[in-house]
Amino acid sequence: MADQLVPIVPLIIVVVAILLVAYRAKTSHFECPACGCLFKVPVSVFLTSYHMLGKRNVTCPHCGYRGMLPPIKDDKES
Ligand SMILES: [Zn+2]
Repeated sequence: MADQLVPIVPLIIVVVAILLVAYRAKTSHFECPACGCLFKVPVSVFLTSYHMLGKRNVTCPHCGYRGMLPPIKDDKES
């Protein structure tokens, strides 16, 4: 019984990690330094984009600016 459960544990960790990232993607946005617009990225982009030190390599959908931007929590915006 325990042997059958072992392979499931890493799977659960991966699923939870993906859900956490998906949740962050849904609740945060980016501010473009070039044109000043606020934009969101799809969860799939959030998951696969290169990231370092909390910043993500994203592309502005309005002006095409590409760079490392820190995600901003949606609730900070008023
Ligand atoms: Zn822009």
